[in-house]
Amino acid sequence: MYQAHSRRYDTMQYRRVGKSGIKLPSVSLGLWHNFGGVTLFENSREMVLGAFDLGITHFDLANNYGPPPGSAEENFGRILRNELSSYRDELIISTKSGYHMWEGPYGEWGSRKQLLASLDQSLRRMGLEYVDIFYHHRPDPDTPLEETMGALAHAVRSGKALYVGLSNYNAEQADRAIGILKDMGIHCLIHQPRYNMLDRRPEKGLYDVLEKHGVGAIPFSPLAQGVLTGRYLNGIPEDSRVAGSSVFLKRDERFDASVEKSRKLNDIAQRRGQSLAQMALAWLLRKPTTASVIIGASKLAQIQECAQAQNNLVFSKEELADIDAIALG
Ligand code: NDP
Repeated sequence: MYQAHSRRYDTMQYRRVGKSGIKLPSVSLGLWHNFGGVTLFENSREMVLGAFDLGITHFDLANNYGPPPGSAEENFGRILRNELSSYRDELIISTKSGYHMWEGPYGEWGSRKQLLASLDQSLRRMGLEYVDIFYHHRPDPDTPLEETMGALAHAVRSGKALYVGLSNYNAEQADRAIGILKDMGIHCLIHQPRYNMLDRRPEKGLYDVLEKHGVGAIPFSPLAQGVLTGRYLNGIPEDSRVAGSSVFLKRDERFDASVEKSRKLNDIAQRRGQSLAQMALAWLLRKPTTASVIIGASKLAQIQECAQAQNNLVFSKEELADIDAIALG
């Protein structure tokens, strides 16, 4: 029977999410890849429990994570039920809806019907009474924002979600959505953008909007799906994401160019006494608006390495300039 590590809260740093009462671990674990029905359950279990032993209290899911869609929530539910049920109050569990999940006109995007039906499905798959954070996964160009935000507000009022968040909204969309929620008496806790040293879109206004509203940021793919780690510095390992069947990371010119950049970034990381993965996370965590970063992993050892990123969050002006010159070059 699993017993959580007695010193799990000794080293992890917990950071306040915007102007809220909630703190998140500097590193959170996402279950997008390697937790679905096609992967070895024992490895997924080891990563979830090993992460919790490191003080990682936050697990990020979505209705469609798998493959097959829904299976990451089912597997996580199994781990919760079997080993983590007595720790529920120590966990922040998030899920999302908005990408395609089921057939017909209500299986994706941002209608009230889609969000609330999806949330009920997620709760059933995970065997939970409530999630801690419920996100709208992507903006919907065709549904009035008032309807989508109304569904998030309802999720909170009905007790099925403690907090709500947005994902993939740009600065202008986020500003409007957060304002609408505020008018409904609901504080948007957090925003989940794609952000890493190679993808700077959130710097074009989004972080300013979040800061203005006291909303925290939690970047996803902070390691550029593994490119900003030591994973590809000596070729392409057979068990890596790019060598697998993921449609989200493919071996192409862009990938090769990014690996070349990561080689140079790795030299800076070494001079800082960090691994490249640790520097990539520290670079995001140096900003107070970044509440946490959501990493993915295929092995527990990767999570253990990433959890050490918090040990050096200070960057000199020269280091930041060198990183920009390489990453944006
Ligand atoms: P990352 O950028 O952290 O990439 C994760 C991959 O990097 C791992 O699978 C592993 O690759 C590699 N890796 C991680 N740590 C190390 C290490 N220490 N050394 C070497 N390689 C390492 O994040 P993801 O792209 O996986 O996304 C993370 C999470 O963000 C998701 O699980 C999900 O929760 C969330 N997300 C949200 C989205 C949204 O639209 N809101 C979209 C995408 C993600 P390998 O598998 O090759 O070993």
